[in-house]
Amino acid sequence: MRYDILVLGGGPAGLAAAVAARGRDKSVLVVGNRWQDSPLARAERIDNYPGLPGCTGARMLEEFHSHAARMGADFVVGRAISLMAWEGFSLTVGSEVYQGRALILAPGVVRQAKYPGEEEFLGRGVSYCATCDGMLYRNKPVVVVGRAPDAPHEANYLHTLGCQVTYVAQQPPEGLDPAIPFVRAGRLAVKGENTVTALEADGADLPCAGVFILRQAVAPTDLLPELATEGGYIRVDREMATNVEGVFAAGDCTGAPLQVSKAVGEGHVAALSACAYLDARRSE
Ligand SMILES: Cc1cc2nc3c(=O)[nH]c(=O)nc-3n(C[C@H](O)[C@H](O)[C@H](O)COP(=O)(O)OP(=O)(O)OC[C@H]3O[C@@H](n4cnc5c(N)ncnc54)[C@H](O)[C@@H]3O)c2cc1C
Repeated sequence: MRYDILVLGGGPAGLAAAVAARGRDKSVLVVGNRWQDSPLARAERIDNYPGLPGCTGARMLEEFHSHAARMGADFVVGRAISLMAWEGFSLTVGSEVYQGRALILAPGVVRQAKYPGEEEFLGRGVSYCATCDGMLYRNKPVVVVGRAPDAPHEANYLHTLGCQVTYVAQQPPEGLDPAIPFVRAGRLAVKGENTVTALEADGADLPCAGVFILRQAVAPTDLLPELATEGGYIRVDREMATNVEGVFAAGDCTGAPLQVSKAVGEGHVAALSACAYLDARRSE
């Protein structure tokens, strides 16, 4: 199915966008990590959102999520690892591709900086997706850098493919196959020549052919390199339109203040703008 609107991110901005777009009767797919993994879920008490003083972040997100679901939004839980802008938009999650005619980016902010060598070796040994690239490394040594809740699961998958997996993280993972060695390290760098040859972990080299860096989020500019930014945030106008036709953005990803009420308001505006964009194209 091709949706009217794809929403990337299931936080307050993405969920508010879904509610508003469903209110205009557009089909909506929200692609995002589990709402429980949103940064807001860690907030113990929110006192600056009108009408819900003292609410926990988790309860607020649950309410937003169930509201969007009741309005008829569809959901895909998972990390979007690539985006194609051609005759609309296609988002890839694992091995599945989801299509839409307009796109709302609401991925929050990426709080994790890239490692040295990561950018340089992206596609030459560095991958963000075990499901997509795992087969390329069958019978080869790979390192999984676990920075997302589903990373142990992905490492187990690579192990079942026959990759020789080492798992690197700052904390011991839950759910990792005991056959996979775990290395505790925080200071990482990708090394190589033409392609990756090792991951340096706290000063020691782990020789490998591939490094799977599994974070919660992918920077929007990695998904859509032509996206214009300003001060590290996606540049938008008052309609929440980006410089890319058919792409709108909302929430923390557009800049300060990084607050729920601003994210919700922008999500609403982005959705109305996306609906107007679709209606204008339909009447052309
Ligand atoms: C501990 C804490 C306390 C806070 N307290 C308050 C407060 O009291 N009041 C207040 O107003 N604000 C507070 N905030 C800030 C508030 O959480 C944010 O402003 C708000 O959540 C922004 O909403 P958003 O939808 O833009 O982004 P987010 O809530 O970050 O949601 C984005 C979602 O998209 C997901 N995502 C990103 N990239 C991808 C991808 N490639 N594939 C799939 N999913 C992806 C992310 O994992 C995340 O779940 C707090 C934040 C924290 C961390």
